[in-house]
Amino acid sequence: MTHIASAPGGALYPAAGGIPEALLEEAAYEAHRLAATTLPDDVKQAFVRMRDRESEELPRQVLGAIVENFHAAQEDQRPVCADVGVPRVYAVIGNETVLAGGLVGLEGAVRRATERITRDLALRSNRCHPITRRNPGNNVGVFAPNIEYRVEPDADWIELCAVHKGGAFGTDFRMLVDGDGLPGIRKAVLDAIAEFGRRGLTCPPVIIGVGIGGTKDQAFGIAKQAAQLRPIGDRHPGPVVADLEDELLEMANSLGIGAMGYPGTAGYATDVHVEIAYTHSALTPLGIHQLCQASRRGIVRVHLDGRIEIRPVPSWFSTYSRRLGVE
Ligand code: SF4
Repeated sequence: MTHIASAPGGALYPAAGGIPEALLEEAAYEAHRLAATTLPDDVKQAFVRMRDRESEELPRQVLGAIVENFHAAQEDQRPVCADVGVPRVYAVIGNETVLAGGLVGLEGAVRRATERITRDLALRSNRCHPITRRNPGNNVGVFAPNIEYRVEPDADWIELCAVHKGGAFGTDFRMLVDGDGLPGIRKAVLDAIAEFGRRGLTCPPVIIGVGIGGTKDQAFGIAKQAAQLRPIGDRHPGPVVADLEDELLEMANSLGIGAMGYPGTAGYATDVHVEIAYTHSALTPLGIHQLCQASRRGIVRVHLDGRIEIRPVPSWFSTYSRRLGVE
């Protein structure tokens, strides 16, 4: 097993000629290792707070088990949940970064790292052919793992965020019309919680991501990214959107649904993150995504000079990436 963080001085290679493929592979491996075994601090702290304020016996026991489980997973370097979902990687690439092998080299590095981590940590291989169901056994295949890209100006680094996302339930898409407005959005979120959450199918407590606007695929994409790539407690920079996040969180936590769907007082969601994109004047595509209690992400940034950094929070949603203020 490779632990980049313990490398002397934090650097493995000089990066003359660009960041070498081998370094990217180690970074992707480390991002996967963290995602599989170590919940982010913001998520851990949210579960502890929830456990401490839950007054019903059953959900308090569940929250206690969740806390115990994430400690054990980190200590034993085992997956937080047996269902590793479908591992994927988000790459934020600085505009001044040079990759020695280019993007093709990066993709090869990510695929090799995914295969290695699946073997080294005995991760369940969920990726299989959707028709024949043939499973290569390494979480690598056609369009797998999926890699999504964003670019960041004035940066000479690349950041890889691995997400191991489980849970088949709790996602929804609706094409609302402009007249549906905020009541239509509230109802859709409530319906998604009622449909899946109260039966425990989303493995709550969850982080709810809501994508409003853009194109159909964009709405669903930003909903998923909002759930996976923003820390608990983060608020959207737009005040209207931030207010909606607070309102939806309050709504989700006022339903009497607790951990794993048991009736409880501490709440159903650790947070709600809303992202928006400018959309068609007559329509409002709406994506909803619920990220289960195994809210796994691991983030490693590689600098052009070869330094490697483990980061607590992804840089996916930046001022530039949202194109705020860009005319
Ligand atoms: S939904 Fe999440 S916590 Fe539940 S089994 Fe799947 S990965 Fe594990």
